[in-house]
Amino acid sequence: MKTRRIIIFSDLDGTLLNHRDYSHAEASPTIGRIEKLGIPLILCTSKTRREVEVIREEIGCTGPFISENGGGVFFPGNYGNFAIEEAVIIHGYQCLPLGIPYPRIRSFIEHMRTAFPIKGFGDMDAREVAQRTGLSLEKAALAKAREFTEPFVIEQEENLDSLEQAAMLEGIRITRGGRFFHFIGSGHDKGKAVSLVKDIFSRNWQIPVLSVALGDSPNDVPMLEQADIPILVPHENGRYEDISLPGLIRAPYPGSKGWSAAISDLLTTLGF
Ligand SMILES: [Mg+2]
Repeated sequence: MKTRRIIIFSDLDGTLLNHRDYSHAEASPTIGRIEKLGIPLILCTSKTRREVEVIREEIGCTGPFISENGGGVFFPGNYGNFAIEEAVIIHGYQCLPLGIPYPRIRSFIEHMRTAFPIKGFGDMDAREVAQRTGLSLEKAALAKAREFTEPFVIEQEENLDSLEQAAMLEGIRITRGGRFFHFIGSGHDKGKAVSLVKDIFSRNWQIPVLSVALGDSPNDVPMLEQADIPILVPHENGRYEDISLPGLIRAPYPGSKGWSAAISDLLTTLGF
C-alpha cells in the first residue's frame, strides 16, 4: 500500500522553460514520464491564467496550476473528482482567488506615477511587452491579461525602497522575478498557494503527499520552502541564486535540460 503520493510544483521561466527561447523541449520526455506515472505537475508561475492555458496545451500537462505568483489557484473543472469547498467557479475552473484584484494595483500605479517613473504591463502595448520579453505578439497579449499582479520596470532602482513603503500602505508588495519587478498583494505568494494545493491533494487523496518544487529566482523561495524536496535550477550563466534550504538539490544545468535531469534522477532515487 502506498503511504505517500508525489506532487511536483514547477516555476516556468528559467526553470521548466529556458530563459531565452522559452523552450521546454529538453524536458519533454520527462514530462511524458511523470504524466504516465500519474504524478501531478502543477505549474506555479508569475504568468497569467491565459498564458498558462496555452503552455499547458503545448507541454501536454493536465494538472491544476497557480498563476501570477500565487494570485490564483486553478483546478480544472472536475479534476480527480476533487471536492474543494473553498473554491469558486471561474471560467470553468474550481478557483481560489488569493490575490488582490488587478484594478486595485493599477489604481495604485496611477497614484504613484508622478513620484516614481514606473511602467507596468498595463502601460505597454502588446508590441512593447513582446520586445521586452521576447514573447510573440500573440503571447504578449495573453501576458497582458492580468487578474492579480502587475509586472513593471522602474528607471531608478534606488527608488524601490520608498516605492515599496508606499505600496505596503495599500496592501501591496514588490517581488523580483527573472525580467521584471512585480506588484503583488501582500497576503499572497507562491508558498501560500503551494501550501493550499498540498492540503487539497492530501485531503482528497486521503494520504500524505511528498511535494517536490523547482524554481530559479527569489520569488520561488516561498514555494521551495513549502516543498519536502526543493530543487534549485541555475540561471542561464550557470550561477545559482543564493538560497540555502535544508535538503536543497541543485539541478546540474539551467532551464529545461536541468529540470529534466533533476526530476529524472529524483524519480530513479525514489524507485520509479
Ligand atoms: Mg523563473
